[in-house]
Amino acid sequence: MNVGMEQNARDPFIYDVAVIGAGPAGVQAAISAWHQGRRVLVLDAGAVSQRKGRAYWAKSVPIEDAPGLDPITGPKLRQHLHHLLASRASSDPEEARIALLGAYVLRVRRQGELFDLSASLAPLKAGQIQAAGEFRARRVVVASGFEDGWPEIDVEAGRERMLERYRTAFRYAGNQSGWHLCIRCDGHLHRGGHFALLGVGDSIYEASLGAQDFTDHMTILTNGRPHGFTPAQLQQIEARDIRIDLRPIAGHLGERTLLRGVRFQDGEELYADGFLVDEGLTPNSDYLGDFRLRRNADGLLVTGEDSEVLREDGEPEPGLYAAGDIVAGQRKLIATAMASGQDAGLGASDSLRRWQETL
Ligand SMILES: Cc1cc2nc3c(=O)[nH]c(=O)nc-3n(C[C@H](O)[C@H](O)[C@H](O)COP(=O)(O)OP(=O)(O)OC[C@H]3O[C@@H](n4cnc5c(N)ncnc54)[C@H](O)[C@@H]3O)c2cc1C
Repeated sequence: MNVGMEQNARDPFIYDVAVIGAGPAGVQAAISAWHQGRRVLVLDAGAVSQRKGRAYWAKSVPIEDAPGLDPITGPKLRQHLHHLLASRASSDPEEARIALLGAYVLRVRRQGELFDLSASLAPLKAGQIQAAGEFRARRVVVASGFEDGWPEIDVEAGRERMLERYRTAFRYAGNQSGWHLCIRCDGHLHRGGHFALLGVGDSIYEASLGAQDFTDHMTILTNGRPHGFTPAQLQQIEARDIRIDLRPIAGHLGERTLLRGVRFQDGEELYADGFLVDEGLTPNSDYLGDFRLRRNADGLLVTGEDSEVLREDGEPEPGLYAAGDIVAGQRKLIATAMASGQDAGLGASDSLRRWQETL
């Protein structure tokens, strides 16, 4: 926990590096900077909001492809990462240390050479901040990832909170037989089985390319929308006997947390062994509204050398770094997030050296 800070107050300390997000990318960035002697603040929204990080949704499917981690489920991975941060805490302000705080970052502003970060330290109530915190740092690493889009099936339209709105979809999310979000991560669970892929356009076409490593038996579900494939994509899909079903879906067919199939509005049912959904993503970067940053078509941040975030004009935004899923053009996997977290943490740390290489 952060020392010396009252609720609704400014933390008097100036941190060397503030890391936003304590998923694999942010934790690695924090540990890498700490290891170089920096005083690091990690602000993570998981404790005070529904943003728990992507790996959290691997609820009962163990993650098997991240080196150094025994097969581990998402919630356990979160615990493990936070334990790593907590074990590097220190109450000595002069010492290298990591302070971890449950905080939803709302705004980052440049203040000369420094950055000011404003955050909510408690869950918002009806959109209102209950306890606010102000922090100051010399460098910022953005590692807040993105939120996956969830299937619009059995959605309670009147509900405002995401977990309530998508309650049924979440019951089936991240289970052995349930909604998967990453074909590379979970495709192996359904080797040789029937895979149902929900989505439209390029992203679901790419998912079908990934799924071919595990099975030839696939059905693409568009849930009432046009499929959005190019003629070339359609040709591939037809050549591989992949069915496209355009019918609107009325509901889930499941037992407890296991998804077995879907029921179409016309009353017909479709059963499958595995289900994958790709309904796009929303980057967790609202707090960067004061900056004019380069983004890809999904809104992910573009970084340059040393993981510095690029501005719209292609120049680096000095002192602002990014790592993990929020970065455009890299694989959305744990080992990649950690590697880019290390780059960003070290990039931020190196930029704080008293003298730099001159050529
Ligand atoms: C169901 C599922 C299964 C997966 N399985 C695998 C697998 O088997 N192997 C694999 O390698 N990868 C897997 N992945 C992908 C992997 O989880 C991600 O690539 C990885 O978690 C990305 O790490 P990250 O640190 O960039 O982001 P995240 O893990 O998403 O962490 C982002 C953090 O930022 C915090 N945050 C967000 N907004 C704010 C804010 N405003 N203020 C403060 N904090 C904020 C969140 O609380 C969260 O802790 C899976 C993903 C999913 C969804």
